[in-house]
Amino acid sequence: MEKIYNYIDGRTVAPVNGNELDNVDPATGAVYSQLPDSDAEDLAMAVAAAESARENWAQAPAEERARILNRLADLVDDNADDLALAECVDTGKPLHVAARLDIPRVAANLRFYASAATQFFSESHAMGTSAINYTLREPLGTVGCISPWNLPLYLLTWKIAPALAAGNCVIAKPSEVTPMTAYLFSRLLNQAGVPKGVLNVLHGRGNRIGRLIVDHPGISAISFTGGTATGADIAARTAGMFKKLSLELGGKNPTIVFADADQEKALDGALRAAFSNQGQICLCGSRLLVERSIYEDFRDRFVERARALIVGDPLEPGTDQGAVVSAAHFDKVMAAIGRARNEGGQTLCGGESVKPEGRCANGWFIRPTVIEGLDASCKTNQEEIFGPVVSIMPFDDEDDAVAAANSTRYGLAASLWSQDVSRCHRVAAALQSGLVWVNCWMLRDLRTPMGGFKHSGVGREGGFETLRFFTEAKNVCISI
Ligand code: NAD
Repeated sequence: MEKIYNYIDGRTVAPVNGNELDNVDPATGAVYSQLPDSDAEDLAMAVAAAESARENWAQAPAEERARILNRLADLVDDNADDLALAECVDTGKPLHVAARLDIPRVAANLRFYASAATQFFSESHAMGTSAINYTLREPLGTVGCISPWNLPLYLLTWKIAPALAAGNCVIAKPSEVTPMTAYLFSRLLNQAGVPKGVLNVLHGRGNRIGRLIVDHPGISAISFTGGTATGADIAARTAGMFKKLSLELGGKNPTIVFADADQEKALDGALRAAFSNQGQICLCGSRLLVERSIYEDFRDRFVERARALIVGDPLEPGTDQGAVVSAAHFDKVMAAIGRARNEGGQTLCGGESVKPEGRCANGWFIRPTVIEGLDASCKTNQEEIFGPVVSIMPFDDEDDAVAAANSTRYGLAASLWSQDVSRCHRVAAALQSGLVWVNCWMLRDLRTPMGGFKHSGVGREGGFETLRFFTEAKNVCISI
């Protein structure tokens, strides 16, 4: 049985308490490795290591930090096949998706922040002839980076890279559901020349080691991506400690298709938005709003395409949809489908599990599911399901579409499809959403800050915004 270790002070180490958790391959249902169930002693060692490394790393020239991050990116490229396979086995997503999307993005994150480290700037303001103000940006010290299971190493490095680039030491906690890629990544750190103690990776349960990281007084900021309920717990726990917080949380994103859209492109976009990564991307469009005059035709074509998606073994190149991430998540998604039926929804396709033949017979697969007949206010259209389930609804006009789109407590992303430029601007401005895609989905410029409105989060990640988050600004005012 393969073992996953923590990475503390430049070494891979077992947890002090010797306790381990099972790591399961969701495509087969089999336990295939074990990971540390880390505790306070492991955290104490990681914080002490970070503390010793902190001054040298903060004072290292930005070019040196950039060189190390670039070397790490090169090592990710060199090990891309192993990382993609680990990502596929940990998450159940198709191997070709891990190889094409996740792992290249890991390297891109590292390179982006290597470059940003050397381009980072601060502000100065002249007050006429009386004074000059300038801002010094200093690293925060030791920061915590906590990430979810859906895009495991992609999202972890989207935090680690800017934190390191800005001169901080990091305690990183990957999801216990998908720990393997972070472990393989940690084994590249020495070779890349990351000084010991600068980046420490602790594995284990969120409600144990995750909470300990959040509560630790020696950790001055928490960058968290995950569920809204967990984000609320972190915000409540840190309220009296005045830690800096960046919270990237859940979504219930609308895809809005107007009658004047290029319908072929809208169909492709809506399908990708609904079912990419088995619907387990925070940015997935789980509510499909279609203008009434084209509703029936668009719906039928959308359902036909959803039915044609091949669900099966993630290692097979022809697979469109792999397994959902775990037994617990499978139960949650299936319960949400049951609830949709109880609310009066009709299942136009899917709605059931799939049992592929062969090695995946005991895996957790769900057929892409389209549900119709529910209004915007029901639970199915209000609560994040985070699986291959989309609810389709007609709307009458722009106001109606915007009202439905804005009717949830979330506000992470929206995708709208129309060829009327003025309408695109109007609707984009009216949507309560941190990100609006027009005639596209999931296009991402890493310079653009991204994050959610309402219960979808606090703070923005991307570009220099994240480097600012990971620094403390000191303003100096000099009288002339
Ligand atoms: P989760 O909140 O259960 O867990 C996320 C991470 O937090 C894991 O590492 C977990 O171990 C840890 N954790 C859990 N409880 C904790 C606690 N009390 N204190 C500290 N850490 C704790 O989320 P998940 O199920 O892993 O991921 C799915 C969720 O993540 C979905 O809601 C999805 O929308 C969201 N997500 C958001 C974004 C975004 O950018 N907004 C991106 C991806 C995923």
